[in-house]
Amino acid sequence: MTIETDMSEEKRTEIGEIGEFGLIERIAGHFIPKNEKTVKGIGDDTAVYDLGDKYLLTTSDMLLEGVHFDLSYMPLPHLGYKAVAVNISDIAAMNGTPTQITVNLGLSNRFSVEAVEAIYEGVKAACDEYNVDLVGGDTTASPSGLVISVTALGEVDRDKVVYRNGAMENDILCVTGDLGGAFVGLQVLEREKQEYLANPDMQPQLEKYDYVVGRQLRPKARMDIIHEFKDLGIQPTSMIDVSDGLASEAFHLCKQSGLGVAIYEDKLPIEKQAFETAAEFSIDPNSCAMNGGEDYELLFTIGQDDFEKIKNHPDIHTIGYMQAKEKGRTFVTRSQNVVELQAQGWRHF
Ligand code: ADP
Ligand code: MG
Repeated sequence: MTIETDMSEEKRTEIGEIGEFGLIERIAGHFIPKNEKTVKGIGDDTAVYDLGDKYLLTTSDMLLEGVHFDLSYMPLPHLGYKAVAVNISDIAAMNGTPTQITVNLGLSNRFSVEAVEAIYEGVKAACDEYNVDLVGGDTTASPSGLVISVTALGEVDRDKVVYRNGAMENDILCVTGDLGGAFVGLQVLEREKQEYLANPDMQPQLEKYDYVVGRQLRPKARMDIIHEFKDLGIQPTSMIDVSDGLASEAFHLCKQSGLGVAIYEDKLPIEKQAFETAAEFSIDPNSCAMNGGEDYELLFTIGQDDFEKIKNHPDIHTIGYMQAKEKGRTFVTRSQNVVELQAQGWRHF
């Protein structure tokens, strides 16, 4: 890679032209792992490092004020909790167990000691819930706004690790929990904010939306499911967590496993409040589930042999199956129309 300081003669490509994933692929192309113990570099939910009988997992996620959260409705303890949970979710997506985190903060002078302590209240709650140790980090000044970046470490038995690329044709596609709620919750919070700005005497009316707002502000990592996989003797063939939206995540499994997929509209798990609130906003609940993102549920595939083990599980839903690449990525609507699956995901650029 040539690094030019004089940008004036360089070709300029807008990040939006290649997108976030295109950019990551471009970076990855320059960094082929050279350490033989690096089992997995860029391209999965975590990197994987060979420790012998165990694999070490590591992942980072950064949340920026004004991009990922708005402090006018995000309480600081929830922010601390969420910043940890979204990283634990990536460890879970490798079938791993989280062990340690580090936390990096960029703080402008708008933030007091008490504000930082409020963030750490949430960090502590997540550390206790997921049984991880906070072992370090970094604190710097930020010219404006708040940045919180968390790195999580975890481990997994080497024969139990699950990548995005292991799905096989005819594997069953499953998702945990319910989808679309976090996106709907965000719409509610945005609306309340606008109403508050227009009329500061108004009290926000959030009780009716408690579930979806909670999905946005305080998502949980599905470590419970990882423990259940162990108890039930289930080894997913591929897995990813739902941070960008089901369609986008399904695309990652397809691309990396070299397969196509069929997803059934009538199988999408959408919780009642999310469904009703989406309708209130005149947005399609299915589209919230497919493209909303930030649900932090687990999307995974299992072999047909494992179906018996999950079929009566109240929180695991079978939503489709993997098919040959030539059959494409399809979405089967309620009226049995087969259409091409669209993935818009989140666009930050
Ligand atoms: P996730 O949504 O699971 O957190 P991302 O889509 O953010 O995953 O990232 C996909 C892959 O790209 C991961 O392996 C991640 O470590 C890697 N990645 C993301 N940003 C960068 C970067 N700036 N430099 C190197 N690797 C990156
Ligand atoms: Mg992920």
